[in-house]
Amino acid sequence: MSSPHTVDALIVGAGPAGATAGYVLAREGLKVLILDKARFPRQKICGGLVTWKTLRVLEEIFGISPQTLRSQGTLFHSTREYTLRNRRRLLFAEHQRDPFYFVDRGRYDQFWLDKAIAAGADAVQGDRVTGVDPDAGMVHTRGGKTYRGKALIGADGVLSRVKASVMKHAAGGRRHYHGMAAAMVAHVPDREDMAVPGLSFGYVPWGYAWSFPGPGYRNYGMLTLKTRGAKNLRAAFHEFLKSRSGADIRRASIYSRLLPYGCFTDVAGSKCTLLAGDACGLADPFLGEGIFYAHRSGQLAAEAILSTHRVGWSPLNQYRHLLRRSIIYELQFASAWQHILYRLLRLGDYRLLAISVRYFHRPIEDVVQGRRSFNWRHRHNPALYQMAARCLF
Ligand SMILES: Cc1cc2nc3c(=O)[nH]c(=O)nc-3n(C[C@H](O)[C@H](O)[C@H](O)COP(=O)(O)OP(=O)(O)OC[C@H]3O[C@@H](n4cnc5c(N)ncnc54)[C@H](O)[C@@H]3O)c2cc1C
Repeated sequence: MSSPHTVDALIVGAGPAGATAGYVLAREGLKVLILDKARFPRQKICGGLVTWKTLRVLEEIFGISPQTLRSQGTLFHSTREYTLRNRRRLLFAEHQRDPFYFVDRGRYDQFWLDKAIAAGADAVQGDRVTGVDPDAGMVHTRGGKTYRGKALIGADGVLSRVKASVMKHAAGGRRHYHGMAAAMVAHVPDREDMAVPGLSFGYVPWGYAWSFPGPGYRNYGMLTLKTRGAKNLRAAFHEFLKSRSGADIRRASIYSRLLPYGCFTDVAGSKCTLLAGDACGLADPFLGEGIFYAHRSGQLAAEAILSTHRVGWSPLNQYRHLLRRSIIYELQFASAWQHILYRLLRLGDYRLLAISVRYFHRPIEDVVQGRRSFNWRHRHNPALYQMAARCLF
């Protein structure tokens, strides 16, 4: 058998996590190969909402400003307005300090992959990874190729084959669904008067519905924790769509997807293999925001590899340390809020939600946008947060 094509860093998945890791590693002169089963630009079903912290992390890593992203069409919309509803009933409408931005994921993901390639990474598209040996950093593809990386990054999304091989259970098996949300999304031809993003609670337990602007269509979606509310998701989603009087459902394209919703892990790999982005469950269990965590974890995985590859050590401990410090702690708190919020909503008390958002919307917005992390609040109020952490985790 011929020896596998070997590189310093092999990355499976060219989404935001894989492209970011590829960019950071290639920029430092490592030999990088990114593999993806799709050919880019590929369609990625997503709400497309990005927050202030995402734009900051992109500026930090790639040196690219929001103005540049806007001028070349990757960011197609931004707005400070948003609404919260209990089903159709308006609970809250507000202008926030920082806008929500909306991206077209096809163009967005292509943009970051192009940056990684321009920095020196190679990319093989249209060949699916079908087998992984995480301890050897080796993968086999449907096209019959074998590749090996001195380090391997699994950035292959929510149903990650690399994660399944690290955790030694089957992708799509029962254990795989723990802490995941099932989502349905409809792309409905746009009406200009509906540019304000909104969230609606009350259709499903442990989840919410959204109505976001999309590039040329309105993006309606609904998510719920797979183990709690997925049985009634289809019926609830159709009820939600019908309630939107402007939505011409007959012309809509409808999709079902999974996303991480509390299944984050700091196990994060084995020996020379690291998991990043959705493959590591790194999405906010409150809103489902994952684009920020994909970029950040891709960057951290790359930094862990850079700091250990010359001495030949495993990057795993360093990566776990970086993850815990800047991501896992945040997700643990978000997870605790997820539990508190959905337990309250199960009691049917939406007044409490409306009142809390009305009086605390600035601190809530600061956490959602990332201007004030839970970590920051902890540093400024250690006694309160230590007590909260003891009660919640
Ligand atoms: C319905 C929905 C709505 C969402 N809305 C938002 C939102 O509004 N804002 C937000 O921040 N986040 C949102 N998310 C989450 C966000 O999309 C993800 O967190 C983010 O895309 C994760 O990036 P990633 O790079 O880890 O994975 P992905 O973007 O999923 O990229 C993984 C890549 O791996 C490739 N791949 C997979 N398997 C293989 C294989 N076997 N071999 C080779 N390649 C493979 C895929 O083709 C893909 O290109 C949403 C998710 C869903 C499902």
